[in-house]
Amino acid sequence: MDYQALAELLYPNITETPEEVEARFPERNNPEGAVITRMAPSPTGFVHLGNLVQGLTSERMAHQSDGVLFLRVEDTDAKREVPGAVEVLINTLKHYGIQFDEGATVDGDSGDYGPYRQRQRASIYHVFAKKLVAEGHAYPCFCTEEELSAMREQQEAGKETTGYYGKYAIWRDRTLDEVKEQLDKGASWVLRFRSTGSIENQFKFDDLVKGKLTITENNVDHVLLKSDGIPTYHFAHAVDDHLMHTTHVVRGDEWLPSLPFHIQLFKTLGFKLPKYVHIGPLMKMDGNSKRKLSKRKDPELALTFYKAEGFPVEAVLEYLMTLLNSNYEDWRRANPTADMGEFKFSPKKLNPAGNLFDYAKLTDVSKNEIAKMDAEKVYTLLTEWAQEFDPDFAAKLTSDKDFAVSILSIGRGGKKPRKDMATWKEAKPYMGFFYDAYLEKPVFDERFSKEIIVSVLNKFIDRYDYADDSAVWFDKVKAITEEIGFTSDMKAYKADPDAFPGTVANVSTFIRQAVTGKTNSPDLYTVMQILGKDRSIDRIKKVIEDLK
Ligand code: GLU
Repeated sequence: MDYQALAELLYPNITETPEEVEARFPERNNPEGAVITRMAPSPTGFVHLGNLVQGLTSERMAHQSDGVLFLRVEDTDAKREVPGAVEVLINTLKHYGIQFDEGATVDGDSGDYGPYRQRQRASIYHVFAKKLVAEGHAYPCFCTEEELSAMREQQEAGKETTGYYGKYAIWRDRTLDEVKEQLDKGASWVLRFRSTGSIENQFKFDDLVKGKLTITENNVDHVLLKSDGIPTYHFAHAVDDHLMHTTHVVRGDEWLPSLPFHIQLFKTLGFKLPKYVHIGPLMKMDGNSKRKLSKRKDPELALTFYKAEGFPVEAVLEYLMTLLNSNYEDWRRANPTADMGEFKFSPKKLNPAGNLFDYAKLTDVSKNEIAKMDAEKVYTLLTEWAQEFDPDFAAKLTSDKDFAVSILSIGRGGKKPRKDMATWKEAKPYMGFFYDAYLEKPVFDERFSKEIIVSVLNKFIDRYDYADDSAVWFDKVKAITEEIGFTSDMKAYKADPDAFPGTVANVSTFIRQAVTGKTNSPDLYTVMQILGKDRSIDRIKKVIEDLK
């Protein structure tokens, strides 16, 4: 077979040489050791935690080494494409602090290695396809869908490995005339790789996450270009990552089975192989067993979920770092206030088996992160969240910023800041009572008579003085306790509960419920200082009225 003639026959319009194409994608000028990496998503419109794990890994590796992170859109499967998906992806990742230095943007491209959308690179792939054909490494295959399925059925029935290889590779050694005849008929064809690998042969390979792997050579004549001339993932991966000078490929380990073919393809094309970082899946416990997070079953896989719940970005990232690098938590303990970017991220610390996603742990991390913020920051983030997800609450918060900030200041700062909320969604249940519209009617403990409660509340408002400090305030509560025959001596009460009708804790709760509607609230003295004298007293008077 005259391969050169075959190449001309298949690609008469391709006149550019691989060298000419390569000259358009010159070496990059990054310092020695810089990681050039990319995210290469298919534009499906769904951005999930796995994308963020990959994004964070690539982002850290690129930016901590003065490298480059670029975005390449893998839109070779037009059927799966969703309009607006690129915009959703860019905006979501940006929200989580993952910024691209280069690549596809919402309305085009930015950078010297584009186009960054694969369908726009068709002619580039054809240059390399032509070279492969000319060198005898690729050939056209005219098999129909029906022929391929029949082949698969036969292989399955005979318990053989499925695929286009060996004797099943029926277009591998046809003559030029046979190919011409098909082309003249206008038959549809794909371009296949002519594999010289054997499954008898194995070699060692080092993956930055998985470690040393034993790889079996690929013997399948995989498709390089589909019948519409658009490449498969494999071929596009080799050509693009070569031309874009990717040094590290960070991707999900579902690509591991294709790695033997990728290595073979890079070699045949004369390309330098990048380093691979194959990330294991995110899993969760389901009963007693682990399983992969699933788009269908687990709402917490979608990044929109965390936004709607109101997890601050800082918390999600902080949690993911603990998941990705096992030494991150120790580093954080030693550097409690340092910027996450100062941590030396290493792909080698990723768990090769993947990670168990622990929602309770995320919640804990988030409580800590929110507790570390100052009230102004909490106000800003909470308001932003509420504007999108609870506009009524947002209106309350913004109608009097100082009031909201003083509420959010309760228990903040100091050595042991309060850990009230894990998400912005929890803010309203926590502090809503400050706003009359969200104040609930108290439900008092039925063990106490209305008369007792009313008498406590009346005594309290008679003596309340806004100028009292918290010690004086509490002394007054204790005095009321003794007057109604309850005790403020908790020790004595615990020793003999039956000896007392109630305690200072019950008395405080009556007042707390009258002011806040709830049995639990931040420090009541402080709450009343923030609410102000009139509003506090009015609330108590109203409860007295209702009890009568
Ligand atoms: N388009 C592929 C995916 O979304 C990209 C994998 C890679 O990063 O190479 O899985």
